[in-house]
Amino acid sequence: MRFSGFRVIQQALTGHKGWGPLWRNPEPQPAYDFVIVGGGGHGLATAFYLAREFGKARIAVLEKGWIGSGNIGRNTTIIRSNYLLPGNQPFYEFSMKLWERLEQETNFNAMVSQRGIVNLFHSDAQRDAYRRRGNAMKLSGADARLVGQDTLREMLPYLNFDNARFPIKGALIQDRAGTARHDGVAWGYARAADRLGVDILQNCEVTGFRREQGRVTGVETTRGPIGAGRVGVAVAGSSSRVMGLAGLRLPLESHVLQAFVSEGLKPVLDNVVTFGAGHFYVSQSDKGGLVFGGDLDGYNSYAQRGNLPTVEDVAECGMALMPMIGKARLLRSWGGIMDMSMDGSPIIDRTPVEGLYLNGGWCYGGFKATPASGFAFAHLLATDTPHPTSAAYRLDRFARGAVIDEKGVGAQPNLH
Ligand SMILES: Cc1cc2nc3c(=O)[nH]c(=O)nc-3n(C[C@H](O)[C@H](O)[C@H](O)COP(=O)(O)OP(=O)(O)OC[C@H]3O[C@@H](n4cnc5c(N)ncnc54)[C@H](O)[C@@H]3O)c2cc1C
Repeated sequence: MRFSGFRVIQQALTGHKGWGPLWRNPEPQPAYDFVIVGGGGHGLATAFYLAREFGKARIAVLEKGWIGSGNIGRNTTIIRSNYLLPGNQPFYEFSMKLWERLEQETNFNAMVSQRGIVNLFHSDAQRDAYRRRGNAMKLSGADARLVGQDTLREMLPYLNFDNARFPIKGALIQDRAGTARHDGVAWGYARAADRLGVDILQNCEVTGFRREQGRVTGVETTRGPIGAGRVGVAVAGSSSRVMGLAGLRLPLESHVLQAFVSEGLKPVLDNVVTFGAGHFYVSQSDKGGLVFGGDLDGYNSYAQRGNLPTVEDVAECGMALMPMIGKARLLRSWGGIMDMSMDGSPIIDRTPVEGLYLNGGWCYGGFKATPASGFAFAHLLATDTPHPTSAAYRLDRFARGAVIDEKGVGAQPNLH
């Protein structure tokens, strides 16, 4: 069934009895040409683009839990392409362009909302850095504008402009950035991939890799062995564990990141706002909750929950930025497992094991990358060559010293 306004009206008039499941629940086949491990945003997008752009058939996505159970359903939903470095900026701008047509291409309302992102700066040096970033964005076709305090006071009058420690001097704004409903993105890709014949196998955990003469020929799963021509692993926070099953050690660490949502409020915040003097970002969901987050908890963990010191730190940042947030009650908080790379940038590459490919190292910026990551990984799986926008995301870049350190903080994953 195609979704449309007409369909919504028709269903409303007939008691909503005609909606079917969004995707099939098939039994695993003995073998596929392409097996994608991980039914998060990146795995599902990969399967969709493999089928649609590269005309590949016989594709399966293997998910150990249910669709949307991982980080794709846990993030703070921010999408943007305000990157500085040449290895990153064209890739994220490609992603932004794919976001802009995602809903038409998948025929699904993912609530993509280009409400703009406002990156605040608090010093002259930071303004210069943001100006440089804005220029880099423009060079790769993205939009950016620098605004001063006067404009900001009109846009966001409740910000703490005159905070003695962190006075707000202006902002870099990307108007095309914004938010998308995170689990809607997973459901949209899953449904669209299913319609192209992709088998989505939930409750199907990969527990090992089958190999013949060194080459991966399939996977062992909790639903039995499945043969594969090529295997693409896109399991985000579980990357080290899953690739460990193939004997590979990755330049990644797993960390917890928490997110928070307040009780529903009347519309108060039109954009995404980020604090430039601490790690804090906030937007308002369509239900009215203020959705916000901050830094990693700072220790390695596979737990999908965090601890109180980070809650306090995030709350302090929020209060420094917009004291009115102190009046809102916190409704929920949760955590997700981040695959932090040593330079803060991702990996989309072949591995030393023939037939095995890796998509990982997204740190806490992988949601915005979902469309481009899926497209580029599909390109790699289909053609065995990197997509031009992801050519820098090689696994051996750490050995070569060709790191892509967007923040310039060095080889310490918890700082990225
Ligand atoms: C609190 C929080 C806030 C964030 N905010 C943002 C943001 O605002 N903007 C942004 O760009 N990014 C953000 N991120 C990061 C972003 O969510 C992730 O980088 C991205 O979702 C990771 O890719 P994914 O969707 O494929 O991951 P996931 O959804 O985690 O998918 C991986 C899947 O692999 C499955 N899996 C694991 N092991 C196996 C196995 N052995 N067999 C089969 N399946 C397996 C898991 O169950 C999981 O479903 C945030 C993350 C968190 C946690």
